[in-house]
Amino acid sequence: MKRRLTRFAWAVVWIVGIVPAIAQAGPAERLAEAVRFRTLSHQDPAALDAEAFAGFHAFLERTYPKVHAGLTRHVIGDWSLLYVFEGREPELAPILWTAHFDVVPVIDPSAWTHPPYEGVIADGYVWGRGTLDDKAGVIGMLEAAERLLAEGFQPRRTLYLAFGHDEEIGGAAGAGATAAWLQERGVQLLFSLDEGFAIVDGALPGIDGPVALIGVAEKGYLTLELVAHAAGGHSSTPPRSTAIGRLAEAVRRLEANPMPARMDGVVGSTLDAIAPHLSLVPRLALSNRWLTGGMLESRFSEDRAMSAMIRTTTAVTMVSGGVKENVLPSEATATVNFRIAPGDTVDDVVTHVRRVIEDPEVEIRVDRGTEASPVADVESPGYRLLVSTLGELVPEAPVIPGLVVGGTDSKHYAKVADDSFRFTPFLLGAGDLSRIHGVDERISVSNFEGLLIDFYVALARAADGI
Ligand SMILES: [Zn+2]
Repeated sequence: MKRRLTRFAWAVVWIVGIVPAIAQAGPAERLAEAVRFRTLSHQDPAALDAEAFAGFHAFLERTYPKVHAGLTRHVIGDWSLLYVFEGREPELAPILWTAHFDVVPVIDPSAWTHPPYEGVIADGYVWGRGTLDDKAGVIGMLEAAERLLAEGFQPRRTLYLAFGHDEEIGGAAGAGATAAWLQERGVQLLFSLDEGFAIVDGALPGIDGPVALIGVAEKGYLTLELVAHAAGGHSSTPPRSTAIGRLAEAVRRLEANPMPARMDGVVGSTLDAIAPHLSLVPRLALSNRWLTGGMLESRFSEDRAMSAMIRTTTAVTMVSGGVKENVLPSEATATVNFRIAPGDTVDDVVTHVRRVIEDPEVEIRVDRGTEASPVADVESPGYRLLVSTLGELVPEAPVIPGLVVGGTDSKHYAKVADDSFRFTPFLLGAGDLSRIHGVDERISVSNFEGLLIDFYVALARAADGI
């Protein structure tokens, strides 16, 4: 009897303990659980931890039963997921929301306040790798879909939810294959919505308070190899110019002659949208760029982040030449990485490099290149929908279109979307940017539950009106 009682007592303790835990498990707990799957992407696809990815899929299935019952799920490229939320009027152009669940590695776990893969909730935050980039997007979209289904909602336009497994290594097997899948079926999207920018606080000089930055384009990517040739031989009888000297001169010229700044296009729309929110003098400066363009260009060029917004950037990232101290190398090589601004092309960059270096003994090899994305239309129904939805939820934040300088999966969707937007509806403070791919990545519970999920729910509902 005593033993029975003890068992009974334990059962009570267990139930009393577990029931509130279940009752309280909300979106933040589910995001925390998502963090515990170590879904890292590696340059070498063979290094992928299939167990972690399969575990993540199974977690989604058991966590979002309505989504898995009500939407059609396709597995693409082994691990990426595409859910189809069939619209009431399937002949209308559909909408795609996308996010990725692969994450970048953690360099030094001991530097973290909470272990990066434990999904700790503390001090009002969910901590861990992927909380901002980009499991908040994946889980937030699924939470929204589950909630919409619970409310009996069916969208007017078909809504695709695409979750990539390899965004951090370029997204070819995931988003690339998903875009091809859509294209084969003749799908042309009204717009796609992906990560990229967010609601940022204190990030734009001259504007106090939050600003909703929506990425309307992303830069292209190009790596060139410069190979300087010269006569080899013994270092006791060197020529006037060695391969290393020629290469150094080529690098110096490249750094001294950046690609020209562009104050039109995306940058122009950004400045136009910022201007009304500034005080008088900067407002006049931004609004009269025919007069102040040169001054603005040199001011922006002083700042690394601003300089990257207004031009194709040049970064010399690797250099090699020579194998022995007394032997002249016949070749020296530098690797140069460019991020191409919309308006410039891969060919423009190669032409610029050739003209600036002006040395036939320096060969220019094109390694790999991707053109800049098309620029989404800020007058389009998709952009207006984002603006009006944000106006409901965060009326204090002006909406500003901008250029994303890194890469996202959206580059793959450009071919099947009229417009591609890059924006996740969470609030980032000035210190949060370095947490992405860095130490102590975290998202506040109120941000995730109160803003991000509500935004996707509101967006889906509002899309019925366009
Ligand atoms: Zn990301």
